[in-house]
Amino acid sequence: MLLAGLLWRRRFYQAVTVMWMTMLVDLDHLLATPIYDPNRCSIGFHPLHQPLLFPVYLAFLIWPKTRWVGAGLVIHMVLDGFDCSPIRFY
Ligand SMILES: [Zn+2]
Repeated sequence: MLLAGLLWRRRFYQAVTVMWMTMLVDLDHLLATPIYDPNRCSIGFHPLHQPLLFPVYLAFLIWPKTRWVGAGLVIHMVLDGFDCSPIRFY
């Protein structure tokens, strides 16, 4: 929401909605057992959280039509990445 407020103020709700919908990328958790494990690192484990896909998500930032999707996915992967760090942030 902060990013949308800073960069896309006139289309704030559209940008937030699209970025929020990129959380659907977590549907790949449904393929895992258990579906949610608080101690699991999502990056590299779930099919849509593979590092090989990260350049694709970054490339989405280039084109205006996919930019919000790219922003949502990049933010998502960065935040999920915090769970994988040996340093505890919380
Ligand atoms: Zn995720």
